[in-house]
Amino acid sequence: MSVLESISPPAGPARWWQRLHQALMPDYNARATAYWWTMVALGTAIGGWSLGQVAALPDEALAQVVIGVVIAAVAGFFPVRIPRSTNSFAAGEIFIFLLLLLHGPAAAALAAAGEAFVGSTKTSRRWTSRIASPAMAAVAMFVAGHGLQALMNLVATHFERGAGTVLLASMAFAVLYFALNTVLVTTVMVLKRGAMLDLRGMLGDYGFVGIAYCGCASVAALLYLTFKQSGSGVLMAAVPILAMLVATLHFFFRQQAADEAIRKGRMEAAEREASQAARHVVELAESERRFHSAFTHASIGMLLVSFSGRILQSNNALRGLLGHGLGFDAGHAFSALVHPDDRSALAALFERMVAGESDTASIELRCRRADGADVWVSLHSSFFSEARSTEPCLILQVQDVSARRHAEARLQHTAFHDGLTGLPNRARLHEHLRHSIELAQQDHGRQFAVMFLDFDRFKLINDSLGHAVGDEFLMQVARRLQNSVRPGDIVARLGGDEFVVLVAKVGDESSVTALADRLQQTLGKPFAIAGTEISTSASIGITFSRFGYTTPDEVLRDADIAMYRAKANGKARYALFDIALHTEVAHRLQLEGALRQALADGALDVHYQPLYDLMSGRLEGFEALARWQHPQQGVINPAVFIPIAEESGLIVPLTDFMLQRACRSLRLWTDLDPAFAGLCMQVNLSGNDLSHPALVQRVMQALIESRLRPQQLTLELTENILAQRLDAARDKLDALRHLGVGLAVDDFGTGYSSLSHLANLPVDSLKIDRSFVARIGDASRGIDVLRAIVMLGRSLGKTVIAEGIENERQLEELKAMGCDRGQGFHLARPLPAQGVVELLESLAPPAFTGHVLNCLSEHGALAH
Ligand code: C2E
Ligand code: CA
Ligand code: CA
Repeated sequence: MSVLESISPPAGPARWWQRLHQALMPDYNARATAYWWTMVALGTAIGGWSLGQVAALPDEALAQVVIGVVIAAVAGFFPVRIPRSTNSFAAGEIFIFLLLLLHGPAAAALAAAGEAFVGSTKTSRRWTSRIASPAMAAVAMFVAGHGLQALMNLVATHFERGAGTVLLASMAFAVLYFALNTVLVTTVMVLKRGAMLDLRGMLGDYGFVGIAYCGCASVAALLYLTFKQSGSGVLMAAVPILAMLVATLHFFFRQQAADEAIRKGRMEAAEREASQAARHVVELAESERRFHSAFTHASIGMLLVSFSGRILQSNNALRGLLGHGLGFDAGHAFSALVHPDDRSALAALFERMVAGESDTASIELRCRRADGADVWVSLHSSFFSEARSTEPCLILQVQDVSARRHAEARLQHTAFHDGLTGLPNRARLHEHLRHSIELAQQDHGRQFAVMFLDFDRFKLINDSLGHAVGDEFLMQVARRLQNSVRPGDIVARLGGDEFVVLVAKVGDESSVTALADRLQQTLGKPFAIAGTEISTSASIGITFSRFGYTTPDEVLRDADIAMYRAKANGKARYALFDIALHTEVAHRLQLEGALRQALADGALDVHYQPLYDLMSGRLEGFEALARWQHPQQGVINPAVFIPIAEESGLIVPLTDFMLQRACRSLRLWTDLDPAFAGLCMQVNLSGNDLSHPALVQRVMQALIESRLRPQQLTLELTENILAQRLDAARDKLDALRHLGVGLAVDDFGTGYSSLSHLANLPVDSLKIDRSFVARIGDASRGIDVLRAIVMLGRSLGKTVIAEGIENERQLEELKAMGCDRGQGFHLARPLPAQGVVELLESLAPPAFTGHVLNCLSEHGALAH
């Protein structure tokens, strides 16, 4: 049978008595229950019998019995508790024994039951004991009472019944009654517990009460004897005296009990305090032990330091973090473990805390490891006082944050460095410049210089060899630059092929130009990249802090200006910035703005220089030349504004304007008379036009808009432009020639390619530079080269054009050489549209003149 089954209730619905039993006497086992019921049944029977007996008594006796029972019951309310024991007795016993002596066991049983009932209601809340107690008292009295009665009768029949006998017998049977009652009551408990009745123990526990019973019985016997002799008056007097006596005893003992309770309470409190104190000590030791265990085994470094910063104790994690062995710490100054640069910050933190300015403080600093390496830690400090230590100290928590710090440093590096070369970027350079400017402002001895470097052929390298080669080139440049400067100097990359060198300390300005020379030398040596050798050169612009800069932008702007000057001077050079240069650049910038505006407003003009066939003197066409009248500065030379347009990107709209205007004009002129149908127009292109991806479309658009035949248009490109961009632009040139558009080499003879490359150029005509024409008549320089060019051009099937013919001699010589066409002031100056119309008029038959005038009035646009 399992434990579970043994305690589970019996199956099926419980009967009512089972439920009653469960409710009233859950702690009663079967034997205890049987005993209880037996006692109750016996007591009830005895009670019934007693009531019957008493009821049969004469009235006076009945009254005595009733009074006795009531007194006994009332006395039950005032039990006399024996101090320091759980025992008590009621003064009602005196009256119970008196009733026994006077009226026999029935009356006594009722009184005993009454007293027991009152007593048990006071001491117990359970009805089982409130019912059983009076029953058992009745049973005990029934037995003891009958015993006494039997003895008395026996004595009466054989001897004279003396007072001594009554006294002794009463006392003996009182003890018997008490013993019986005690056994009966105790048996319930014994049965419930399933133990044996311990009579000896009971004697020890209750013996004293038995003596009290004896006393009560003797008092009752004395009262009885007195009553027998003197009548009931004695009883009347005795009752209040007894009541007072018992009440006094009752209250005396209660006071005793109360005192006892207080004493006990105090003792308990003292004991509690003592045990609490003991527990506290244990807990304190425990918490200290826990702290030390946490301290020792914590995963972050911890240490206790005195207010003066001496290490009192450190944990394993800290020793691990700093790479020290055991016992490295005690007594050392913690600051000795900190990077020298961070010690003042640490000292300030300690001072703040010791001064009570804050309870906790945090800081990040570098600690020195035993191996000399630095480790970034986050240090958190707070107050600490240990129960056993004499003075408070600081507890420091030290956490390794080097990983985070390194990540931050990496981020910082990427934010301030060029990804390709690893050099400082523009943002970082600005910081350096700001710093240098500050130093120079504070101390005039601390002058600096800035060099702006730009590579003369980087775009070409990038375009023709690819970006990988371009990148490698830049990396090598960075390395060479860095190897050429002094340690304090900064080499930065601004982007593209723009590098800047900040010479941090300039003693003599000639040392800076010497550095520029050195840089040009090293950068001029060929670079070996991807199996090829690349040669290039750098143009360098230099400026000095003596110009009184206040911002990095100003410095870079002027170095840039100087760099442009260096480029303009012919590349692979350096140029120093000066104030005049600044004015020049300012002027240039201003012109650029005005040109932009003029283009937007359509305020440019076109002049047309006639081109003639030299043999026949026939007008062949015109060269369109841009003209710009500045609103304030008057006519600006194309040699000034064309380079500005090229640099600023304005050349593209300018060329478009020229193409459209020139084509439209020619169309109008050829429409005038069929005699002019063969005239052609030559338009100049710049290098940027040739690189422009939509060049072919732009030309086609001009032709379509003007409804000009492509054969009527020739594009002029200088020899240098062709030489530099031919490879990249060959497709475009082929496409244009395929359309039928003519191509001419302008300024032929001034470029690098010259005669040797002529055969390779995809052109129809070549325009000999006017410097060759100017030599005609100059005996010292001769005209052999000119003759050679004309002959070569003709032999290659190109139309040869001479420009800058200024006099008859030149014209005649060129004719003699077989030069096909020519232009020049001697033949005709560049003319405005109006001038061209007049020229055409002069050439046309008289009938035509009227027609032209009509057209002029119809087409006001002719003048444009
Ligand atoms: P270019 O293409 O060589 O133009 C011929 C230049 O020689 C013109 O100067 C013209 O006025 C000048 N010229 C003509 N005959 C004589 C002469 O007998 N003696 C002298 N000394 N010069 C003569 P201009 O108009 O000042 O133009 C200068 C340069 O500006 C042009 O040289 C050309 O390179 C450029 N240019 C002019 N207009 C344009 C244009 O619309 N687009 C482009 N890309 N460049 C242009
Ligand atoms: Ca030209
Ligand atoms: Ca020319």
